[in-house]
Amino acid sequence: MASTTWAFFKGQQVPLEEANVRVDTHALHYGTAAFEGVRGNWNEEHGKVYIFRLREHYERLIRGCKILRMDIPYSVDDLCQITVDLLERNGFAEDVYIRPLAYKSEEAVANLKLHTLASDFTLMILPFGAYIEAEGAIKCQTSSWRRPDDSMMPTGVKITGLYTTSILAKTEAVMAGFDEAILLNHDGSVSEGSGENLFMINNGEIHTPFETANALLGITRDSVMTLAKKELGIDIVQRRINRSELYLADEVFLTGTAAHLTPVGRIDNRDIGDGSTGPLTQQLQDIYFECVTGKNPDYMDWCTGVTPGGG
Ligand code: PMP
Repeated sequence: MASTTWAFFKGQQVPLEEANVRVDTHALHYGTAAFEGVRGNWNEEHGKVYIFRLREHYERLIRGCKILRMDIPYSVDDLCQITVDLLERNGFAEDVYIRPLAYKSEEAVANLKLHTLASDFTLMILPFGAYIEAEGAIKCQTSSWRRPDDSMMPTGVKITGLYTTSILAKTEAVMAGFDEAILLNHDGSVSEGSGENLFMINNGEIHTPFETANALLGITRDSVMTLAKKELGIDIVQRRINRSELYLADEVFLTGTAAHLTPVGRIDNRDIGDGSTGPLTQQLQDIYFECVTGKNPDYMDWCTGVTPGGG
């Protein structure tokens, strides 16, 4: 591994330790930023890191920028190129996590007006293994924290301030001995995990909360819906899901860039199915992993291959 980790900051590649903001930076005080979490998956045989659906991540980032009135001087194409260049420079020959951040960079704290504040873009890339440490099917807790409603804070994009709720929920769950939290909407319907979308399987049908259930519009969610349709002929149904339906489901799984496709074996101390990874979840997980690691030729347009060190 290269000795210096490089970041992209104020328009250029700099060593990560030099990519610093001042303490009066607006985003630090008010959560006025939008971020992305992107994975690069190492394929040993090809000698490449495959970045999964890079363009779609930047399209979502730009949607977050629009909502927060952040003008950053880069197009989606520019952002993809900046990312590929930085990954090459870092030379990682392993799985990586890519963290773009568009933020209100103005050094001004007593100001609550988005439209008068300058914005900037920064990017870092770090080696990254498993996000959820537990092996196999995980244990979830229904959180005492509710997913904010889109009328309170935009929920379909990754605005940093919104993550306070996810972090409260995840902390509560892990401190109580669970692996992950499931958040309900204010009306009691199921929304999503603290950093993942949720799917439920019953009698071979797969259901997930509506796009309007305040969940993030996940790129892994979209990928799994496409794979279920194309590879298994299953149309995933979007609908309102009640908490107790989860307890009675045959299978439940979570999807997210960091968590990949994670089976859920227990919710609120009740086994889901027999408590282990269900057969349809396993099948989808296998298909998904082939795609994200650049091993399925039919889905190479989802992968951006990067050779460590360039070339
Ligand atoms: N919900 C939340 C709250 C998230 O943070 C994430 C991770 N980005 C997801 C769902 C899954 O989204 P994606 O598949 O795009 O990573």
